[in-house]
Amino acid sequence: MGIFSFLLNLFFPPRCAACKQEGDFLCKNCVQDFRIKRIRARSLCPSSEDFEHLDGVIYGADYAQNPGLQAAISQFKYKFNKELTYHFAELLSQKLKELSMLRNKQACLIPVPLHKKRLNYRGFNQAELIAYAVAAKYGNEIDVLKPLARVKNTAQQAKLNKKERHQNLDEAFEVTGDLNKLSDKVCFVVDDVCTTGATLDSCAKTLKENGIEKVYGLVVARAFK
Ligand SMILES: [Zn+2]
Repeated sequence: MGIFSFLLNLFFPPRCAACKQEGDFLCKNCVQDFRIKRIRARSLCPSSEDFEHLDGVIYGADYAQNPGLQAAISQFKYKFNKELTYHFAELLSQKLKELSMLRNKQACLIPVPLHKKRLNYRGFNQAELIAYAVAAKYGNEIDVLKPLARVKNTAQQAKLNKKERHQNLDEAFEVTGDLNKLSDKVCFVVDDVCTTGATLDSCAKTLKENGIEKVYGLVVARAFK
């Protein structure tokens, strides 16, 4: 720890993003709580009418039932607390292990790209941090690839209804990278929260239009029912 971080921690000790208790960015109790409340069964939700292109979405936890996780995700995204990435990745790698989706298979994580303007504003892509942290828990079985770019600076999804979200995302993504590296791999589009699935589905659409056969979503929390 550098002297600056040391002093910073001394005068402004970290607080748990979920319960605000002093000591760590996420306390042991809250980490344990996420683990207990993570969704076990049926966590691979099949393609519903919401997902025209995705083969399913894997999610670590339910957003509505986890106020602690909501607080942690919002700190991560809007207060730029990157320390929380590790905990989100932990949740997702447990999930992947439970589902045995990667047994004898190579997987590829594709973070949902941010538009340049949003990236400049935030300084980092939260989906990318999560993807790299999940991959770090595995060996060579998982690659993080970034073949997509967000070409449309879409209006904030949170302010739109379901139909508007899908329209808003039409043609939002474009392939800018090498897709050859994705062949023979299980592809997961990674994001922090999945609200309607429109963003993930739009990424899946672009990938499938370019020859990728199976595309799943992988998200820390699902907000849809
Ligand atoms: Zn806590």
